[in-house]
Order: sequence, then C-alpha cells, then structure tokens
Amino acid sequence: MYATVMHGPGDVRFEQVADPKIEKPTDAIIKLSATCICGSDLWPYRGISTQEGPAHMGHEYCGIVVEVGSEVHSVRPGQFVVGSFCISDNTCPHCSFGFQSSCMQREFMTGAQAPYARVPLADGTLVGTDDLPDADMIPHMLAVSDVLGTGWYAADAAQVRAGGTVVVVGDGAVGLMGVLAASQMGAGRIITMSRHAPRQQLAREFGATDIVVERGEEGIARIMDLTKGIGADSVLECVGLGESMEQAMGVCRPGGTIGYVGVPHGVSFDGQQLFFKQQRMLGGPAPVRRFLPDLMDRVLADAIQPGKVFDLVLPIEQVAEGYKAMDERRAIKTLLRVDA
Ligand SMILES: [Zn+2]
Repeated sequence: MYATVMHGPGDVRFEQVADPKIEKPTDAIIKLSATCICGSDLWPYRGISTQEGPAHMGHEYCGIVVEVGSEVHSVRPGQFVVGSFCISDNTCPHCSFGFQSSCMQREFMTGAQAPYARVPLADGTLVGTDDLPDADMIPHMLAVSDVLGTGWYAADAAQVRAGGTVVVVGDGAVGLMGVLAASQMGAGRIITMSRHAPRQQLAREFGATDIVVERGEEGIARIMDLTKGIGADSVLECVGLGESMEQAMGVCRPGGTIGYVGVPHGVSFDGQQLFFKQQRMLGGPAPVRRFLPDLMDRVLADAIQPGKVFDLVLPIEQVAEGYKAMDERRAIKTLLRVDA
C-alpha cells in the first residue's frame, strides 16, 4: 500500500510501504475510515524534535476491523472502532487507575496516516460501536481519537467544574477541543486566548464566553481584570512552550488547577514560584482510552460536533500539502480522506 512517511524536517512523502500484518496474537488490522495530521506531527516536521530515519506517521484513527489476532476477543472483523494514540492493555495497575497513557505495556501508535494500520493490544486499545456510524459521523469519531480526548483530559486534569471560571491557553485544535470539553462540563465562563479570527469564531461556537487577544504580561493583566483580580479556577495549557506555561501560571488562582497537555519544549519551573503560587498541576499524554466510551456516546447522540475542528479536507495522497498548510497556519487541522 501507499502510506505517509516523514524522511526529515519538511519532507513528507506518500510512498509505497509494506502492508501491515498481524505480528502478535493481540494485534488487529483496521481499514481507516479517515485519518488526520496532529499538531504534534509538526514538531519533527519543523525539526524542533529530532527523529532517526524515516518514520511512518499517524496516530489518530478510526475505521473498520479487517483482521484480528488469535487472542483478540473484544472487537471483531467488520466492526467500527476508535482507538487512542496510546496503546494500552486497559488492565494493568496504571490503566485501572485511569492512566492508560502510562500503561505498563504502553506503545505509541504509528502508521495511521495510511489506508490500513496495525493496532497492537487491540482488546485494551480499541472501542467498538454496535452499528456502523453514518459517513457524516466519521470526522467527529476521528476527533475523539486524540484531539478531543486530549482537550477533554486537559479540562478533566484542570478540574473544570460546573459554574467555574476557565482559561484556555492556546487556540490550536487541542485548545479548541478544551473549550468544547469545558463547556460540556458546565463551566460558567470560558476565556480563550486567541488572536486569529477563524479560531476565535470556532472557540465561540464551542462555548467560549470571552476572547483575549493580548499575550504575555498584557494577557495576564487582561485576564486578571476580567476575573476581578482573582484568576481562573481551571487553566488548560494546550501549547507546551515556556511562554504559554508562564501564561497559565500567571492566570491560575491560588488553589486552582492547571491541566497541561502541550508537549513541553523549553519549559522550566522555578521552585519558589511553584511553592508560593499554590497551584495544582496535572498533565502529560492524555489517557484518551478512559474517555473514549463516553465521548463516542456523546458524538453518536449528536451532543457534540468535535469534527468541526477539521478546516481542511484532502485526499490522503495530498498529505504533504496537509502538513504544509498546518505548518503555515493556513489550516487548524487537516483531515485526510481514505477512499482506497
Ligand atoms: Zn495498562
């Protein structure tokens, strides 16, 4: 088959690779219904994180099971499934504690920007539906796999509560999903930091009540002003840079909580500041598996439309253009159509 391979920074190719096959009895092979490009794929694309040799890209996926290994019992060929970017057994002590993204058997999904993909630990990783969802549900189901699951975790980790005040730092796809999550959790006020009109509009659609365009000290001052000098109960840090973490810590009230899901690049902490600020922090790779059944139900009930975050749709053959558009911020998030 043809699939997406990154050969180095800025060099994404759709080229011939070996067909995925069952390698372990716990594997499943799925035929992708659609796939997409993640903001985190841009780190190696921009050369900010390095990788050794060509890499099979893609970790967000939903599709139809075509084959299962002999030890797979929870999903069957012909079934529609969604999985997380973290492969997990869903049974070990960390999984049982709700942190499937730190599973003792954790692997990270790769190779999903392709017509077919191998999913290890299929029983623990995949969640199936009873019926095949309609075609218009596919983008929403795909969003659950990572971008919504991660935004949801940011809100959950930040302890968003009914009536609470929430600040979302970052207007990328994950930040926008964080707005949607906070809204679903009943936040009273959701302040989004964004200076891009299309993203502001989408944030409002997902439930943002206030938009702050200022950044740095000015941004912090603006939010403190909006919250009468108190700060936010919950802050979702969805970028992963030193500046965005400072922003998050600058607007979180004492006793408030920061959920951070941006992969840190150049973030460091001052011990004295941490001590006197009295802020809770929880973050890391999202245990999307914990949220999958609930989020899939919400999509199927048409309670949420997270797929609106895809503002560019391309056939998978044009995956290189999809990366370019996101790199140049012409697109928030690219969905890749798989028609093969
Ligand atoms: Zn586990």
